[in-house]
Amino acid sequence: MKVCAYCGKSDKLTREHIFPDFFSKEFPTYGIYVDRMRDDLPHSSAPIIRDVCSECNNNRLSLLDEYGRKLTNEYFARDLTLADITFYYDHNQLSRWLLKLWYNDARTHHENLSVYKSFIPYVLGNDIEPPLAFTLMMGIIIPTLHTEKKQMLFPKVNRYGKVTESIEGVVLGRLAFFTSYVFAMFIWKTGTPRQIRKKEIAKISQDTRLVELHRNDRQAKITSPCMSAMSAILLGR
Ligand SMILES: [Zn+2]
Repeated sequence: MKVCAYCGKSDKLTREHIFPDFFSKEFPTYGIYVDRMRDDLPHSSAPIIRDVCSECNNNRLSLLDEYGRKLTNEYFARDLTLADITFYYDHNQLSRWLLKLWYNDARTHHENLSVYKSFIPYVLGNDIEPPLAFTLMMGIIIPTLHTEKKQMLFPKVNRYGKVTESIEGVVLGRLAFFTSYVFAMFIWKTGTPRQIRKKEIAKISQDTRLVELHRNDRQAKITSPCMSAMSAILLGR
């Protein structure tokens, strides 16, 4: 019998969207989803997974989606022409929402789920502290000017990715692209010294212009782009 991917109970299982379904509902023109593991083609509807019980889905996870919906309204649904924003965030809710999305994504790809599973009590809000330290970062994707058509090519693709290069101390690195925004999370192996983490994050932000979203802050100022729409498209290939 199938059990809920979050609480392990074998209640009636419901549909859970791999990409937030409000992306396609509220912003039809933004509804492009690339699932590299499935067929690498853009889809106009978000893929779904059916292994979450209604209790987890309706009570716990939907609260996180509410937060994601708020961010979508305030940020992701608007084209950015310049990398010059102040992003206001709730570190706890944003991290848990992203972890939920990545865990959902990982289940459809038959990845090793052990790290994601260790985060379930944190995602559900049962544990205040995460099981492993992690660093959350964010970047801005700016449009590419299409010279022949004299048009701006805006990044309108929603996609999840994995950090494939190995970084000292990182057990899992994940990416999420929501239109002009990219989020990255680096989860650290138990016992990775703070100075190693700081050194690696400094290197990443220098190389990529990703900005750390500190746990004790509520806002981050971003003034340099981390990539252009064209390189975001190429990265996805
Ligand atoms: Zn459940």
